[in-house]
Amino acid sequence: MIAEKLIEIKNTLPKEVTLVAVSKTKPNEAILEAYQAGQRIFGENKVQEVCEKQESLAKDIKWHLIGHLQTNKVKFIAPFVSLIHAVDSMKLLIEINKEAVKNNRIIDCLLQFYIAEEETKFGLSLEEATTILKDEIFLNLKNINIVGVMGMASFTDNKDQIKTEFRTLKNYFEILKSNHFKFNAEFKEISMGMSGDYQLAIEEGSTMVRVGSSIFGGR
Ligand SMILES: *Cc1c(COP(=O)(O)O)cnc(C)c1O
Repeated sequence: MIAEKLIEIKNTLPKEVTLVAVSKTKPNEAILEAYQAGQRIFGENKVQEVCEKQESLAKDIKWHLIGHLQTNKVKFIAPFVSLIHAVDSMKLLIEINKEAVKNNRIIDCLLQFYIAEEETKFGLSLEEATTILKDEIFLNLKNINIVGVMGMASFTDNKDQIKTEFRTLKNYFEILKSNHFKFNAEFKEISMGMSGDYQLAIEEGSTMVRVGSSIFGGR
């Protein structure tokens, strides 16, 4: 069932769009089923859970941390994490860099933006991101690689609103690209779209969709 769903979704994605299979709360057996169907990128939102799964599952899995990350937990994922999606402060960037240095790694990160209408504690404004990217402290963080942006649309049935929010994120990406990453080909990802809205996200320029319940079933 999981394999069929995964393949069905994969077949609808343009080939340049990366599928992050969001396996949070799901057991190892479920992940293994997707793995056997060819999936290698999995998204988790809790540090302890991703550490346990990383320990026990195949080492060629790329683990993406998609949820909010507390600075005191960075050290647990720094040895293996493949991409951190929700970076939303200088404090967190400094901590990720510190742990990346300790592990002799360069860690890929996305800057999370606040695009939804609803109240949420997480995500940067364009102004906040610009302040960080110009800061001398940030420019000296050599073990951080910012590869793009991430955002979550409002939880609503209003497709026009969702589209507008995704368009905002795409626009932020373009602004940052031309002002801060013009000569950096690695800054190329726009992580947007979940089970309910990933088709809309792709229409608006998503390069990376994070799909959980449509593959693994409800949580
Ligand atoms: C849970 C989660 C998803 C996946 O949500 P589904 O609706 O199950 O596809 C995507 N992104 C983030 C940040 C999540 O926490």
